[in-house]
Amino acid sequence: MDAKNEWDYSIEKGPSTWVTKFPMAAGSRQSPVNIETSRAESDHEALSSKPLRWKYPATASRTLVNPGYCWRVDVDGEGTFLSGGPLMDDVYKLEQYHCHWGCSDSRGSEHTVDGQAFAGELHLVHWNTSKYETFAEAAKAPDGLAVLGVFLKVGKTHEEMDKIARLLPFVSHKDEEIDITETIDPGKLLPDDNGYWTYLGSLTTPPCNESVTWILFKKYIEVSHRQLNIFRNLRKFPRGEECPCHENHGAVINNFRPTMPLGNRVLRECGSF
Ligand SMILES: [Zn+2]
Repeated sequence: MDAKNEWDYSIEKGPSTWVTKFPMAAGSRQSPVNIETSRAESDHEALSSKPLRWKYPATASRTLVNPGYCWRVDVDGEGTFLSGGPLMDDVYKLEQYHCHWGCSDSRGSEHTVDGQAFAGELHLVHWNTSKYETFAEAAKAPDGLAVLGVFLKVGKTHEEMDKIARLLPFVSHKDEEIDITETIDPGKLLPDDNGYWTYLGSLTTPPCNESVTWILFKKYIEVSHRQLNIFRNLRKFPRGEECPCHENHGAVINNFRPTMPLGNRVLRECGSF
């Protein structure tokens, strides 16, 4: 089997099968989860004593990539910064951001809120530079990564997201990438309210390392139906190869993992909207 295609979101190699090749996927600290809002502990003092803070230079976004299962923007982490909130005094740097979406506007997010899915979910992946030397080292540590999650709801066109949408036709096939020459500011992809839920979890793609402090913004951002359709036009096979037409004509859709049990993990919240 092609090592690059060991997993995907199909029936054959999808989330329910990941555990056979990636044992960490069976752990007790897996993501995503359903956020039961009534279960969230308002931990105001502990979390708000150190407000969540971030800084992203507008020039940080460097390359747009189609890895065959989403779109991803690789970032120059120099000068990026995420700290505070559940991360306390540790300083995290942005490594990349990417997106998950559905086949229709009624599904596509990885996390759900009181059982409700959103049309998509944006993930900004950071690593702990206070404690680790490299992203790879951090990805193996329980406090190595921090992911900011932003829910996408269908509505009006998102200006900053449109810069990405306009470039996607240039990376329509797997393994294609393009340099980003205009500035795409990751900070402009975040909602205008900082209220969030936080819990300890994992990467939602193999190998599903249990290394992520999740910070999910309560407020969603709006993107248009047209923009989501551009995401859905990405192909999961390389240009020039035959389309694996058995499922969805090789389109990248429904690239989300179903929710995993929260178990006895603590869900905390800070702020509202
Ligand atoms: Zn993700």
